[in-house]
Amino acid sequence: MNHTKTRFAPSPTGLLHLGNARTALFSALFGEHFLLRIEDTDQERSRSEFVTQLLDDMRWMGLAWDEGPQSAKASADYFQSQRGEIYARFYDQLERDGLAYPCFCTVTELEVSRKVQLSSGQPPRYSGKCGRLNPEDIERRLQKGLQATLRFRVPRNETAEFNDLVRGPQKFNTDDIGDFIIRRADNSPAFFFCNAIDDSLMGVSHVVRGEDHLSNTPRQLLILRALGLAAPEYAHISLVLGDDGAPLSKRNGSRSLSQLREEGYFPLALLNMLSRVGHHYENEGLMGLDDLKRHFNVGHLGKSPSRFDIAHLQHWQEEVVRVADDETLWGWLHKETRALVPKQKQALFIDIVRTNCVFPGQADEWARILFADELMPATGIIDVARQAGEPFFLAAMDAAIAANGDFNAFMTRLKATSGAKGKALFMPLRAALSGRTDGPELAKLYLALEPSLLRKRLAEYAGVAG
Ligand code: GLU
Repeated sequence: MNHTKTRFAPSPTGLLHLGNARTALFSALFGEHFLLRIEDTDQERSRSEFVTQLLDDMRWMGLAWDEGPQSAKASADYFQSQRGEIYARFYDQLERDGLAYPCFCTVTELEVSRKVQLSSGQPPRYSGKCGRLNPEDIERRLQKGLQATLRFRVPRNETAEFNDLVRGPQKFNTDDIGDFIIRRADNSPAFFFCNAIDDSLMGVSHVVRGEDHLSNTPRQLLILRALGLAAPEYAHISLVLGDDGAPLSKRNGSRSLSQLREEGYFPLALLNMLSRVGHHYENEGLMGLDDLKRHFNVGHLGKSPSRFDIAHLQHWQEEVVRVADDETLWGWLHKETRALVPKQKQALFIDIVRTNCVFPGQADEWARILFADELMPATGIIDVARQAGEPFFLAAMDAAIAANGDFNAFMTRLKATSGAKGKALFMPLRAALSGRTDGPELAKLYLALEPSLLRKRLAEYAGVAG
């Protein structure tokens, strides 16, 4: 394959959520060269905080861009709000060539025309009225101070085609597209226009974007052709649906990246999940970003909408936690959790976390259970311990003292003195020592607890003061 240059072109009007993070990821995985462009032409809705957050989120995901804001190349070039002069040149070119014209139609006129077309069963499109004005008419209106939009003159009755890398051959008739606005009355550029021009000027070879943009592509190709600019190839990726089949939204599982980050998700878990939503890898195991990129295949992108399932994200999260190194896990824990863990128990605790936790909050619970005097027994747990009877716990206290920190010695002695074995031996101990019946192996619980705390917890059920 030739050199691929892809881009992600978000509008900074909100936080990155799972849907657009996936578009960013697919673009980054596909391109040998990856560009980030901020489409901030909507002055009212674009906010600099969103740009900052977006760059942060991209970095957190590990999606580095070769060109874009805060890259080695001049940054202002990658903000559309700073590219007005460039767009102005192209508007002039189109007007000079008679391929764009000012339109003075008012909102009401357009609305009436739309209703008339709809009521006669025609799809609504601009009638072309202002396209028939002669230069004097135009001049007169401008003199009067009338506001004009700029419309692109769509060629009549032509068939145009392009091949979408996901959706296959696309064919359209230009008569189905009315002359459309490329510059608004307030002089701001329309999305179709600057988006297409920038892709071409920035040398983007492949546009990976959401399927909701598929119907924009014909117009964009017409603009590029009229300007004599090269067009990229397009890959319109399927939309992401929530687990209920409706478009992904807050209600059915979508979250912003910053929320996921706060919840303690690892970026690699997110990347492994997202890169498999509507795309498949032969390898079903956890992969690093380099491998996700190496094995990404645009031919493996599915056409049908794909569902996002939070259980998949949790699966990958678990995979990442299980193989994370000590330092990573330690850094991942909440500060308050780290403060609870005595230095000499750190390695043991990280091991407990790796095999038992998926989120830092769970690790925090275990740190409180093991190192703070905080038992949080769920209902029924106390009974599990009590059933063993006081003599069992008296024997356990005695065994703990004799074993002096040696778990095997403790168990051997307790078995011998109490006669308990199997579940009847383990469960009451677990319940008494941790207030839970699930969690780390008993040996690890035993070793994590300070001897005095261990004795105290056994004494609770032995009918003696600890
Ligand atoms: N700024 C557009 C958006 O966020 C970009 C669409 C595209 O990728 O071409 O939807």
